[in-house]
Amino acid sequence: MDEQNDCIFCKIVQAAIPAQKIFEDDDVIAFNDINPVAPMHFLIIPKIHVASLMACEEPHQQLLGKMLLLAPALAKKQGCTDGFRTIINTGTVGGQEVYHLHIHVIGSKNRLPAMIHKSQ
Ligand code: AMP
Ligand code: ZN
Repeated sequence: MDEQNDCIFCKIVQAAIPAQKIFEDDDVIAFNDINPVAPMHFLIIPKIHVASLMACEEPHQQLLGKMLLLAPALAKKQGCTDGFRTIINTGTVGGQEVYHLHIHVIGSKNRLPAMIHKSQ
């Protein structure tokens, strides 16, 4: 398995640091965000170290599809049947803090606030 020593999410994959896992299989793990912004806020990550969406290429297509399909499946299990928000922060412009690809899945009983405010 690809791994990077100083990567916090690789450490979660290796169970070297704990996480509140909600799903795991051979390819991916989903776990609750340590600093949730809504009642439901979990992350879906690949087990292999991929730095960001910018680093993804054609061989990652199946993995990306699997990660994306897991979002509604796990959100529904957590009771968010009316929808949720997915975010993939990418690179410095995207405000990415952890350089191991992850999808944020965020949900609440009520409508989430607008993500980016239109200037007019
Ligand atoms: P970003 O890279 O900006 O998309 O965000 C990284 C996310 O990872 C943030 O929402 C953090 O709260 C979350 N995070 C960082 N470390 C951990 C951890 N050990 N367990 C769970 N979530 C984490
Ligand atoms: Zn990693």
